[in-house]
Amino acid sequence: MTRKACMAPEFTFLCPLPNGFHARPASHLATLAGKFTSECTLLNQRNGRTADLKSVLSLIAADIGLKDECSVRVSGEDEQAACRALEVFIAQELPGCDVPLPEISPNGANGLLPRSLRSNGLESYSGMPVSRGIGYGKVVMIGGMIPPDLTAVKVDDPELEQERAKQGMEGVRTRIRQKLAGHISSTERAILEAHLAILGDASLTNRILEKISQGRPASQAILETAEFFSGLLQNSESQYIRERADDLHEISHDILHEIYGAKFQRTVELTEPSVVVVEKLTPQQLLDLDRTGIRALVMESGGATSHAVILARSLAIPTLIGVKNLPQFLSPGQEIIVDANRGVVIPKLTPVARRYYERELTTQQKRQAALVRDAMASAITVDGRAIEVAANLSSAEELEPAFSNGADGIGLFRTEMLFAGREQPPSEDEQFEIYAQAARAARGRPVVLRIFDIGADKPVPYLKLPAEDNPFLGFRGVRLYEQHQELVRGQIRAILRASAVGRVHMMIPMVATREEIVWVKAQLAQAQNELTERQMPFDPAMPVGIMIEVPSVAFILDQLCEEVEFFSIGTNDLVQYFFAADRGNPRVAHLSNVRHPSFLRFLKQIVDEVHKREKHIGMCGEMAGDISHLPLLLGLGLDGISAASSEIPILKTRISRLCMSDCQSLLSSALQCKNAAEVDSLLAAGTLNSPESSLLDRDLVILNSKSESKEEAIREIINSFYVEARTNDPDQLEEAVWTREEVYSTGLGHGFAIPHCKSDAVITESIGVLKLSQPVEWGALDGQPVHTVILLAARESNANGRHMQVFSQLARKLVSEKFRLQLDQAEDVNAVLECLGNELLISS
Ligand code: PEP
Ligand code: MG
Repeated sequence: MTRKACMAPEFTFLCPLPNGFHARPASHLATLAGKFTSECTLLNQRNGRTADLKSVLSLIAADIGLKDECSVRVSGEDEQAACRALEVFIAQELPGCDVPLPEISPNGANGLLPRSLRSNGLESYSGMPVSRGIGYGKVVMIGGMIPPDLTAVKVDDPELEQERAKQGMEGVRTRIRQKLAGHISSTERAILEAHLAILGDASLTNRILEKISQGRPASQAILETAEFFSGLLQNSESQYIRERADDLHEISHDILHEIYGAKFQRTVELTEPSVVVVEKLTPQQLLDLDRTGIRALVMESGGATSHAVILARSLAIPTLIGVKNLPQFLSPGQEIIVDANRGVVIPKLTPVARRYYERELTTQQKRQAALVRDAMASAITVDGRAIEVAANLSSAEELEPAFSNGADGIGLFRTEMLFAGREQPPSEDEQFEIYAQAARAARGRPVVLRIFDIGADKPVPYLKLPAEDNPFLGFRGVRLYEQHQELVRGQIRAILRASAVGRVHMMIPMVATREEIVWVKAQLAQAQNELTERQMPFDPAMPVGIMIEVPSVAFILDQLCEEVEFFSIGTNDLVQYFFAADRGNPRVAHLSNVRHPSFLRFLKQIVDEVHKREKHIGMCGEMAGDISHLPLLLGLGLDGISAASSEIPILKTRISRLCMSDCQSLLSSALQCKNAAEVDSLLAAGTLNSPESSLLDRDLVILNSKSESKEEAIREIINSFYVEARTNDPDQLEEAVWTREEVYSTGLGHGFAIPHCKSDAVITESIGVLKLSQPVEWGALDGQPVHTVILLAARESNANGRHMQVFSQLARKLVSEKFRLQLDQAEDVNAVLECLGNELLISS
């Protein structure tokens, strides 16, 4: 940031916001500017647009994107104070004003029906999935909302009409404030705060009042003003800001509803399971809908980051956007399916489609239940090594989901989040309540409470931290403890008190030197004395650990092992300091690759050093939450990992399929690679299969199947692979089976079929068996329908797999009438497993 000492003070800055200047950050800045009488103007150097800093809308309309250079000029009575305050705010607090947007990824969604439905000739339309899931129900269409008689009113008294508009706006503001005071989700809160900011914008009010003074009715003035500003926003280069135009429409509708009441009715009753079909939806319209009735949402327009979409995602409503010409193929009352996993709308709910999706929903539920069920047990590799899989969290609300997803503990409680977004720090008692709640919820499992890591991208206004050129290299984490000693000791006392309730550990962030640890331990000793004096219980042996996120500590681990009990690698910071590449700067993001051999070598050195001294070392950075990294992490020999709760079930399942010795050899090869791409290829080659004994499994044997066709039978077996986490991509696996099937039918005759494929969509080589209640047509060699299906799935990249061997063995065996009879007579799962196991010399 640079500042010019001239008549009217002025400074320049680079916009630090990844989503540009949208309503929320703009409203914070406008509120601050509004406290001064001076005129505050901003110039976006990139596009030459100017803005009044006191107006949210004009700030948004200046179209300020990430890294745009802007200059701010202040002139008036209090210009010096105003300029200073704005400069400090922009340097310190603006970067933290933006709530990160939940990410959506269209991964795997291709707008295609699954294979078996495609071959059934089912009609479908594609759209972009923005909130995943499947929903079906009757179409409810929400159309245009402005009754024409409201816009055609003649105005006799403009002043009275202006008063009406002002009262309407005030009424909406009051309602929003009431909602904000209630119990609402953070997504709803962010949306309502943005609306409040737009409503408070002087430009909006002035324009509405001006239009009324020109003789327009309030309704028309409001709509035209909304149209005007949304036009400005739509010119933005940022998609996110363009989509803020929706907020303006939303607000104008709110004001109209406030003024005209029942004449402007917006709530839609949903009396049965419904799919809401709409050209475009506002968040408020969505909130007004009966949420128990809504099964899915289909929009013709609307963006992936529009607030309505963000809300739909947070409410877990399957949603598609960009579905064209909706009214041409949908009409009210029609029963449809929305598959927001694949990105398709199926306008006719045929019996085949209904059966397909009913089965799919059951499969999804079973898979989730299986993952969560398995996650309740410890994660132990095939060769017997237990790995602790804990949860990262930052509030008490996240405790329940963490433990119900199978967390072995809390590996990282980011306590700084308890200090953010408020006027005062939380008191010792308030903190104790939260930490004790965590300790109780953990029921004997460890809870790692990290002392606050404030600073850099996590500012806390009341600490009044100075502006810095390089906040990530600056005053953050442990570095600011000495200056805020009372706050730190208060927190340590709260943590210590919680150690009397459960297995609490204390962790220090951003440690760069041994002295910092010594200082914190001195505070700990003092806090213990204080609690003893107050006769409050605590665990005197509470373990203390540190984050490894500054490279310097990696070279003094021998000394640090004498100071602390455990270590946790924070890869998010460690990787940025290791490669000297700012974690928030997209231009250097390619450098911070945790799979680069140099970084892997560094990690190996760290883990080995700590293990030499028999101390515990885990990882809680984002690297640990990505299942594709597991072979590397296990190869490193980490004692535990900690990740977002939602990832815990799949992480644990995957660990139990891996073999330590395979992971160690993979890591050795990775350490010799020349670049990250080579490591990626090693990981993709995935030589890490489960042992052969799991080729057959009782959960892959289906008796009395009700499948009615060859397509259904194949999919049913593949679904069982999906439930058992043997594949994460059942559609791709199904395609692979059908590709083979198109070459020749696998119906061997005598009622048996052995479909098969080689595909890396299967994680573990598997055999699935399905015995049908009613035989189905298969196109078999002897023309007979099939009653028993044995599906073999092998991995493409597993060159030495026994797939072909087992396949030809099976084909040979099925020629024998004795074997067929044995299989036919095998009436329970054990008998089927025994029969196949004995004959094919494989065990389950
Ligand atoms: C890390 O740096 O990896 C870490 C877990 O800490 P944070 O992301 O909170 O900086
Ligand atoms: Mg960190």
